[in-house]
Amino acid sequence: MTRQVALVTGAGRGIGRATALALASSGFDIGLNDLQPDEHLETLSAEIDDLGQRTHICAFDVGDTTQHDPSLAEIEGVLGPLTTLVNNAGIGVVSRGDPLDVQENSFDRCMAVNAKGPFFLTQAFARRLLSRSRNPNVVYSVINITSSNASAVAVPRTEYCASKAAASMISKCFATRLGPENVMVYDVQPGLIETPMTETVIDSYQARAEDGLCLLPRVGQPSEVAAVVANLAGGCLPYTTGHVISVDGGMLVPRF
Ligand code: NAP
Repeated sequence: MTRQVALVTGAGRGIGRATALALASSGFDIGLNDLQPDEHLETLSAEIDDLGQRTHICAFDVGDTTQHDPSLAEIEGVLGPLTTLVNNAGIGVVSRGDPLDVQENSFDRCMAVNAKGPFFLTQAFARRLLSRSRNPNVVYSVINITSSNASAVAVPRTEYCASKAAASMISKCFATRLGPENVMVYDVQPGLIETPMTETVIDSYQARAEDGLCLLPRVGQPSEVAAVVANLAGGCLPYTTGHVISVDGGMLVPRF
C-alpha cells in the first residue's frame, strides 16, 4: 500500500498548521516546513504523532530555491516518497498603502515567497514524482494556497495581489503540464480568514463580512480552508484539476 505523504509549507501557524492537522487526520504523514524549526512546529509534530501519523520537521525559506530539492530529499528519506505538496507559506506587504509608494523590497519579497517559491518547489516536487513509478490508485496533487486577491484588487496591498495572481497562473500552467501525468493541481483561494496574518485587521474584516461583503456574514477559520485542502488531497473532487476553489464565504460571487 502506498502511504500518502504531504509537505505543507508555512505549517507553523494559521492555515498551514490547520492543514497539516487536517491531512494527518485523513491519514497522511506530514513534512512540516516553516522558516524556523521552533516550538510551534515541535508542538504541531507532537499533536500529529498523537493522531498516529509520522512527521518530519524541515525548516527552510521557500523563497530560497537552493533549499528545495535537498529539503524534499531529506523529507523523503525519512517519510518516504511525497505524494502531495501544499504550497501554503506566504507573506503580506511590508506596509499597506498607496501603490504609488510601494517600495521594491516589498514587491520582491512578495514575489519571492508567494510566487517564485511555489513555482520552483512545484518544479522540484514534480521532477521527483515523475522520475519514479506511481500507484494509479493514489491521488498525487499540488495544492497552491493563493488568495481571493489573485483576482480581486486590494489597493493598499497591490504587490501582494500581483504575487497571488502570478501564483494562480502558475497553478494553471502546472495543471496543464501535469494533467497527462495524472497529477492534480489546485488553486485554493481563501477569502477573509482569521489567522496571525490578519489579526490586526480581522475586526474590520468581520464587520465588512457582516455588512454584506461575503454571502456568509462572517470571516472564515483556518480549519475551513484546511478541510477543503484535505478533501482535495484525498481525491474528493475527482476528475477536477487546474481550477480555482474559492473558500471565501461567497465573497467573490458577482452581484449587482
Ligand atoms: P500566517 O498566519 O502569516 O502564517 C504563514 C506561515 O508561513 C507562518 O508560519 C510563517 O512563518 C510561514 N512563512 C512565511 N514566510 C515563509 C517562508 N519564506 N518560508 C517558509 N515559511 C514561511 O498566514 P496565513 O493567514 O495562515 O496564510 C497562509 C496562506 O494563505 C498564505 O499564502 C496567505 O497569503 C494565504 N491567504 C491567507 C488569507 C487570510 O485571510 N489569512 C487569505 C487569503 C490567502 P513565520 O511565523 O516564521 O513568519
